[in-house]
Amino acid sequence: MPKILVIAEHDDGQLKLATLSAMGFAHKVCAEAGGAYDVLILGESISAAAELLRGYGAASVLVADYAALKEPLADKYAHVIDEVARAQNATLVVGAASTFSKDVLPRAAALLDAGMISDVIEVRPEGGDFIFKRVMFAGNVIATVKLAGALKFLTVRSAAFAPPPKAAGASPITPVAVDAGKLPSQIEYVGREAKVAGRPDSTEARVVVSGGRALKNAADFERLIGGLADVLGGAVGSSRALVDSGITPNSLQVGQTGKIVAPDLYIAVGISGAIQHMAGMKDTKVIVAINKDPEAPIFEVADYGLVGDVYQIVPELMARLKK
Ligand SMILES: Cc1cc2nc3c(=O)[nH]c(=O)nc-3n(C[C@H](O)[C@H](O)[C@H](O)COP(=O)(O)OP(=O)(O)OC[C@H]3O[C@@H](n4cnc5c(N)ncnc54)[C@H](O)[C@@H]3O)c2cc1C
Repeated sequence: MPKILVIAEHDDGQLKLATLSAMGFAHKVCAEAGGAYDVLILGESISAAAELLRGYGAASVLVADYAALKEPLADKYAHVIDEVARAQNATLVVGAASTFSKDVLPRAAALLDAGMISDVIEVRPEGGDFIFKRVMFAGNVIATVKLAGALKFLTVRSAAFAPPPKAAGASPITPVAVDAGKLPSQIEYVGREAKVAGRPDSTEARVVVSGGRALKNAADFERLIGGLADVLGGAVGSSRALVDSGITPNSLQVGQTGKIVAPDLYIAVGISGAIQHMAGMKDTKVIVAINKDPEAPIFEVADYGLVGDVYQIVPELMARLKK
């Protein structure tokens, strides 16, 4: 029977909601194939985040709370995951498909000589093993794969797995003993540039408003895209065209080489809908596109389309929404 270890993700103690999707994957596997799952959270001063992980049916919430783990350095985190996966006799180690997981999980898999697949959107138990479906080639191909070996690592797309239902009986918090002196130290933490804006992260937000080449400068982007996002309490995103022209920072880019988002509502403002952009947002529940070209490819995936000039439509939309 599977023994699953879910790796929780947080930003300085703020739990990332995508963790609940990884737990949703574990819950689904256990419901269909038996077994149990634990959640491991690493960091410093993470008791509040650990508390939020309880009550979702995990056998236990394993907490590695150490000053040496304050920053998510991949060499140290992979070392701890390696030790915990061995101690728990894990057969599946799961994280949300994210930058954090891309950095940390393959290292841990390598330490354990385990295979790994990313961007899983479906799982089916079969003959004591599992069949996975995963997204490839910017979302243009869905591959059906099996992974060899008794221990498997994977990341899951958050849009594909709902959080587990709240379960009676809280999962106990279990501290993980870590010998800080034995942690690897190849990577040195130098500093971090955190964004100052009070807006949510596009990978976590329920609403994302993204702007494309139609926006002529940074001031217009902030007024129209930032303004609409603020009215809706959402996050902002950008096409690569605006990043390349220096109007928006790289951190806002949505798409194949940017962030993968899956909000309830995605508003694409003056974005043509290139496949590389759509690879990052087509798992959205409801897509709204605003574009002056009725033939723009974005309308092929949009649930609602507005044909017109963004400089006219967006202020009107904001005024009506404010009412
Ligand atoms: C390897 C690779 C990776 C890539 N990765 C990404 C990625 O991660 N994310 C990404 O976004 N792109 C990515 N791209 C780039 C991608 O191919 C497109 O070039 C880019 O997405 C186009 O951005 P855009 O839609 O803003 O601009 P355009 O394609 O120029 O579209 C602008 C749209 O705005 C409309 N418009 C113009 N003015 C107005 C107006 N006043 N009112 C209303 N509508 C207006 C136009 O009709 C047009 O449809 C990648 C490309 C490559 C080759």
